[in-house]
Amino acid sequence: MKTYRDEAVVLRTHKLGESDRIVTLLTRSHGQVRAVAKGVRKTTSRFGARLEPFSLVDVQLYKGRNLDTVQQVDLVNAYAPALSADYQLFTCGTVMVETAEQLTDDDSATHQHLLLVGGLHALATRRHPPQLVLDSYLLRALALAGWAPSFHDCASCGMPGPHSSFHLASGGVVCDACRPPGAASPDPATLVLLGDLLSGDWGGAEGTSNRVRDEASGLVTAYLQWHMERRLKSLPMLERV
Ligand SMILES: [Zn+2]
Repeated sequence: MKTYRDEAVVLRTHKLGESDRIVTLLTRSHGQVRAVAKGVRKTTSRFGARLEPFSLVDVQLYKGRNLDTVQQVDLVNAYAPALSADYQLFTCGTVMVETAEQLTDDDSATHQHLLLVGGLHALATRRHPPQLVLDSYLLRALALAGWAPSFHDCASCGMPGPHSSFHLASGGVVCDACRPPGAASPDPATLVLLGDLLSGDWGGAEGTSNRVRDEASGLVTAYLQWHMERRLKSLPMLERV
């Protein structure tokens, strides 16, 4: 079957020639797909506007040797207008799609797809504070990739927590016996918040102060960078929000 249909989030687009575009999609069932959208930059294009970054689309693709070709696109949810209208939402969304692109490949990544859709939806509808939505998304995306941090039991020996030291290379909090030199000692409330963001306990997360949220974000960013081979281009944008 050369033609297939799937639901996808548009992660990125770039220009190809005069009027075409290459779109990077995170599909629900076919992993990450790069496809050519022909003629989308012409003003008469039927589906150009539907293939903007952050959009959730229902797409029909034709399988090619290197790149697939977009045959048909229906918009399921347009998150681009909401996210592009607010700088903080836009930067959070940009870090999310860039992280999703780096954590997935052409293997099926249904859970990463669904996590990203949930995160973009929560951002666009302002269901929770954007900073918390982003940090929760990043922790859960890293956990799906096999790098689940521990914020309660010792990441080295498993001794039940809570513990007060945090060490990136060890994978989260560590007990006093395992604590390597240079481990951080965050506010205990920060470690509770990180645990809540990883498990999706929004009631607890939304009751925290800005200072605790900022400390948590710093640790999430450091943890993300520790595990990513390449530095995310969009991360410096967050520091200006
Ligand atoms: Zn330990």
